[in-house]
Amino acid sequence: MINIIGAGPVGSYLAYLLAKKGEEVQLFEEHTEIGKLVQCAATFTSVLSDIIPLKNDLIINKIKRMKLISPNNDFLDVNLKKENLVLDRSEFDKYLVNMAVDNGVKLFLGYKLLDINENELIFKNKKIKRDILIGADGPLSLVARKSGLLSKRVFLKGMQARVESNFDKDAALTHLNIGEFSWIIPENENIARVGVVCKNNSQEHFKRVYDKVKGTKKIIEYQGGLIPLYDSSAKISKDGNTFLIGDAAGMVKPTTYGGIIPGLLAAKILAKNFSDYEEEYKKNIEKDLKPGLLIRNTLNKFSDEDYNSLINLFKQEKLKEILEKYDRDFPSKFLFKLLLKEPRLLKFALKYKETFIYK
Ligand SMILES: Cc1cc2nc3c(=O)[nH]c(=O)nc-3n(C[C@H](O)[C@H](O)[C@H](O)COP(=O)(O)OP(=O)(O)OC[C@H]3O[C@@H](n4cnc5c(N)ncnc54)[C@H](O)[C@@H]3O)c2cc1C
Repeated sequence: MINIIGAGPVGSYLAYLLAKKGEEVQLFEEHTEIGKLVQCAATFTSVLSDIIPLKNDLIINKIKRMKLISPNNDFLDVNLKKENLVLDRSEFDKYLVNMAVDNGVKLFLGYKLLDINENELIFKNKKIKRDILIGADGPLSLVARKSGLLSKRVFLKGMQARVESNFDKDAALTHLNIGEFSWIIPENENIARVGVVCKNNSQEHFKRVYDKVKGTKKIIEYQGGLIPLYDSSAKISKDGNTFLIGDAAGMVKPTTYGGIIPGLLAAKILAKNFSDYEEEYKKNIEKDLKPGLLIRNTLNKFSDEDYNSLINLFKQEKLKEILEKYDRDFPSKFLFKLLLKEPRLLKFALKYKETFIYK
């Protein structure tokens, strides 16, 4: 029996893949309803639809342009070769859990895992045999904590609001010097998801990005949550019978802090073969998380002046073309190309050369 804790998108997708292969899978979720607590901008490159066929009614908007805005209000319009997708996150979670259940996964709602011992998983009113245990239980993962796999995880804060105003529905905006990553992502002409990821002072950073929304505006709802910082030294499996995946394993892109695509890709690897999981993850997924961390560590040291000159450099057609063509999920595919086309980019990396040292 395979026991998965957490019916978020990654746990549900993994459960589906394993059940499709004929495995017996139980999926435990602490909430009594799936997709109730949304804390996500739910914006993805088209890579998502290569992984999972998406029903049209999950897609709320399609983004055609990314507008990267520097501190001096100069900007770069990146016309995306493949549109980005803004999803209804709540419906997306339900869609994935239904795929799992339709393929034979036993779903237990209202089951909060409280403790783990060598042989048992302990829920409020039930103990079950431990068997194979997979923690897909989010950033604060109890499975990671109880298995000694949480290591020294660092967390960031994500704060977002759905805001009513007037928006260009085709363009997502990023103000480069607000928090670690900020966004204004339209759901349509009248509502956008406005948010920021930062280490601390989240309300202050949020206010800065909210202030960028022009005209009369109104906050419809706030959302927020913890985001684990990717750590290349963290272990994601133990003793051949305990595995971590998704946010529980810290599989979050350090550039934009999206965790769903890396988590789903990792699910494909784990579902294929438990014994090669850690090795295959390092080969196939960390190859993009590591350069992402390099970019993030460099950006975190940027001054306003650095951002202004970066946007200027990227206005060159030869660089813009690369940004437009490649998915941001896979920096290993374009980082080197950018440096070859524009060696002046190296000056940023060299200026902050200590960021080259991976932990
Ligand atoms: C403000 C914000 C915006 C974001 N925007 C994006 C974005 O645009 N794109 C993107 O890719 N990512 C985004 N993310 C990150 C994304 O939300 C996560 O990477 C994603 O939810 C991870 O999925 P998961 O299935 O691993 O974990 P989760 O979605 O956290 O699911 C874990 C599940 O486990 C359950 N659980 C936890 N503990 C227990 C327990 N003890 N017993 C039983 N069940 C338990 C939880 O209830 C939950 O259902 C954003 C995050 C934030 C905070």
